Amino acid sequence: MNKKEITIALAGNPNSGKTTIFNNITGARQHVGNYPGVTVEKKYGYISYRGYKINVVDLPGTYSLTAYSEDEVVARNYIINENPDIVIDIIDSSNIERNLYLATQFIELGVPLILAFNMSDITKSKREKIDISLLSKLLASPIVETVGHKNKGIKDLLDAAIRHIENKDRQEIKIKYGEEIEIELEKISAIIQDKQIFPEKLNHRWIALKLLEQDKEIIDKIREESREVYQEIELEVDRSIKHLSNILRDNPATIIADSRYGFIRGALAETRKETEIEKVSVTDRIDSILTNRIVGLPIFAALMWLMFQFVFKIGAYPMDWIDMGFGKLGELISNVMPEGLLQSLIVDGIIGGVGGVIIFTPNIILLFLCIAILEDSGYMARVAFIMDRVMHKIGLHGKSFIPMLIGFGCTIPSYMGSRILENRKDRLITMHVNTFMSCGARLPVYILLAGAFFPNIAGNIIFSIYVIGIVMAILMAKLLRATRFKGESAPFVMELPPYRVPTFKGVLLHTWERTWLYLKKAGTIILAISIIMWILFTFPMIGKNYSNDYDLEIDSLEQSFESNEITQEEYEESISEIEAKKGAEQLSYSAAGRIGRFTEPVFKPLGFDWKLAVASISGIAAKEVVVSTMGTLYSIQEADEESETLRENIASEYNPLIGYNFMLFTLLYFPCMAGMAVFRREAGWKEMFFQIGYTLLLAWVVSFVVFQIGRLFI
Ligand code: GDP
Ligand code: MG
Repeated sequence: MNKKEITIALAGNPNSGKTTIFNNITGARQHVGNYPGVTVEKKYGYISYRGYKINVVDLPGTYSLTAYSEDEVVARNYIINENPDIVIDIIDSSNIERNLYLATQFIELGVPLILAFNMSDITKSKREKIDISLLSKLLASPIVETVGHKNKGIKDLLDAAIRHIENKDRQEIKIKYGEEIEIELEKISAIIQDKQIFPEKLNHRWIALKLLEQDKEIIDKIREESREVYQEIELEVDRSIKHLSNILRDNPATIIADSRYGFIRGALAETRKETEIEKVSVTDRIDSILTNRIVGLPIFAALMWLMFQFVFKIGAYPMDWIDMGFGKLGELISNVMPEGLLQSLIVDGIIGGVGGVIIFTPNIILLFLCIAILEDSGYMARVAFIMDRVMHKIGLHGKSFIPMLIGFGCTIPSYMGSRILENRKDRLITMHVNTFMSCGARLPVYILLAGAFFPNIAGNIIFSIYVIGIVMAILMAKLLRATRFKGESAPFVMELPPYRVPTFKGVLLHTWERTWLYLKKAGTIILAISIIMWILFTFPMIGKNYSNDYDLEIDSLEQSFESNEITQEEYEESISEIEAKKGAEQLSYSAAGRIGRFTEPVFKPLGFDWKLAVASISGIAAKEVVVSTMGTLYSIQEADEESETLRENIASEYNPLIGYNFMLFTLLYFPCMAGMAVFRREAGWKEMFFQIGYTLLLAWVVSFVVFQIGRLFI
């Protein structure tokens, strides 16, 4: 029987024990030669083991696989060109963090990899405890502990190598470089794919990465292949590098290297059993506090709290100015335009509706500004890391928390972001709970209601809603895991990138992108729905017979005023009272009013009248519409020109319990129609209907309980 032949390449940092292990494996059967074209010594040998002829190559020691030194190029080219069956990365385990840097590059290259944690005799005495089996899962590579000079663990290493080669479904993991770099990587890979200058087996993402790192070898290779292709690729790469340097304020190569260290730091932080972290860098020192088991979560909560104070308190000023501006605009139009339907459409429908949403732009800008700073500084990655621990406790993985964090901005990208979870069950659970991470579109509803009912503690109230959202997401995830989606979640590295001072440009860009989306939505979908809502509130119009009674009342008031029985003040007050009554009657007579009254029985146990019912239903289109609908509604009801603000109207009509309950309801039911369309695309009809159904049910039950218990106390 012919022996199966396999080739193992031994790689690793200088002095990690490669040659020692090489000698242990091959004994006397070794040869020394040179790598082609260079003076770097090549040591190779073989051994017969368990029916295999195993060829072993001792690669030159390198810290990295960039093309900076001859040794690095030799090691890399050997792996790329000679295609060893497996790479064993010999790691000096007394210096894991630094040694794993090379390992991340093998992972990136996508070669079958085994990690030998050598020098494990030293680590044992240092008592640094790492959960090796978890780390091995996180890196998707077997880890074997060895002591080179004592010949310990060498058989295990060979066994692991054979097993890993025979294993047909090896997992592949990816190191993520952040949204901006990922986008550029995709663009460059697409061109490489298109031009077919590299063999199919070479990972295109890796080549793109090398190009962003300005790897001379790879660039030369493309140039040799075809000048034309080179020029095209160079153009794209240069553009990418300029763009990235511009927004990240640093060379992409540096950011990429930082991300690799972030990946390692995350993997180690997750697997370290004792928090004996050597605090060498500033990042490590900050991390020992921010990701601390005890204070990490309270710090996150405190930062969130500060954020909402800031968003509400600072945002209140410009909000009032814009509010006043729209009020004046409405008055102006009412004065210059003849009274009638068109005037009502513009003043009540469009200004009342769209204006009601636009006035929250300053708050939205501030919220997105805070989120952008937290994201760009590297803190959000820590939040995911802290939450990872919480999620582990309830049988989930913190990877789910990354798309959830995106949900603070908008739920739609967070549904799409859930794709990073390979396991379908994990992905579906995450998508089903993403909705509770309160999105930017819900913020206007909270600011309106918190401002109306809790003017002095509005920031705290809004904060509490966000916290309830997070808690609800965790509870529901646990519930779904225990029922519909039973099973284990797959392990994954939570990257901990180094902290950076966010760049002015980057933060501004992120804030602007999201604010612009908000404004665009106000100008399109919310405008359209406002007009539809205005029509539904205006038609059918109440008949002459009904309004006759009011006209008679007004006539008699006029007479009393003319004969000086009442003062002008009393007269005006009574008139606006009658107008309001008339408006209210028209509203309840309108199509929307009928829908509201028809559905009222469902909402009544929650403390909501037909108006809040209509607002909730219209919010299905987009959550901001809840506000615009209320704006239109009260604008129609308040027929007089010196109208009160929407906030004052709401405050006079409902109590704080109903106000808070309405915020809860808005938080909990599914985000919007566009969101559901994306949900269906990502997960199918069945899951979409499940999402709609269970969030509606949950929103109803929670609001029911809160209202029924709350009203016992007021
Ligand atoms: P290379 O540069 O990666 O080829 O490293 P070498 O194989 O030359 O080893 C460097 C030094 O580390 C030598 O002095 C070895 O004896 C020593 N060494 C190798 N493995 C171990 C180990 O597991 N524990 C300890 N304490 N020393 C080791
Ligand atoms: Mg050596």
